Amino acid sequence: MTDLTALLDCELFLFDMDGTLYLGDEVYDGAIELMEDLPRLGKRYIYLTNNSSRAGTDYIARLRKLGFPCEAENVFTSSMACGQYLNQTHPGASVYLAGTRAFYRELVDFGIDLVNDERGHTDVDTVDVVVQGFDTELVYEKLDRACHFLRRGAAFVAANPDWVCPMPAGEVLPDCGSICALLTASTGVEPFYIGKPNRAMIDVIAQMTGVANERICAVGDRLYTDIAVAQNAGSVSVLVLSGETTRQMVDEAERQPDYIFADVAGLHEVLKGASSGC
Ligand SMILES: [Mg+2]
Repeated sequence: MTDLTALLDCELFLFDMDGTLYLGDEVYDGAIELMEDLPRLGKRYIYLTNNSSRAGTDYIARLRKLGFPCEAENVFTSSMACGQYLNQTHPGASVYLAGTRAFYRELVDFGIDLVNDERGHTDVDTVDVVVQGFDTELVYEKLDRACHFLRRGAAFVAANPDWVCPMPAGEVLPDCGSICALLTASTGVEPFYIGKPNRAMIDVIAQMTGVANERICAVGDRLYTDIAVAQNAGSVSVLVLSGETTRQMVDEAERQPDYIFADVAGLHEVLKGASSGC
């Protein structure tokens, strides 16, 4: 029988959303019940997303509309991770942001010293850091300014490494990783990525919440992001088979998740069983 100690010892659960708690507008059976029950089980939780084009408040509204419990402290995006990361590693730095207005306001809330306005316009000639996001409001001026600063030695930080953002009916949108590839081609400078699967995403959450990495559990449906981020950060990983990963894909994976459930209802059963057995 599987040793559940590492899972049950976790204090903080990080949940991927699409494919884990719901698919589009269809909420999975038992997902809301699990989230409502976690505080009673003595567990904290955060909804985690790599999407750096939307604000945390957009996710709060969406999750509540679907019926999930959600306060501001329960949502963490790669944009917010960037704000935390900049404050931890580049305190007081001047920053040029190439991102959406939602990302811009997020960094303002973190007290970041932005040199540009919401549309990417600036008159300064040098900055300490260029930050790139999944910029669905991209205009040429932002690419031009980002290249200019990177060629003059600015550090290059990117919110999330995704090449594309999946859309309904098999469509995709070019995401942050693709925009960064353009900037790297123009400057020779490679970005430091924050979002999943890079451990920075969990490291900043550990710092922010005071929970050690090994007491954090990442729950998700993708091996190469949700599970990989936990493995890279020394955290516990839970794969659910309710999204894009099949049993065959798990069997063929180089590194196995710590725990596998058919869906989050299965995870709930285990957490509940442990609590009633005490
Ligand atoms: Mg997912």
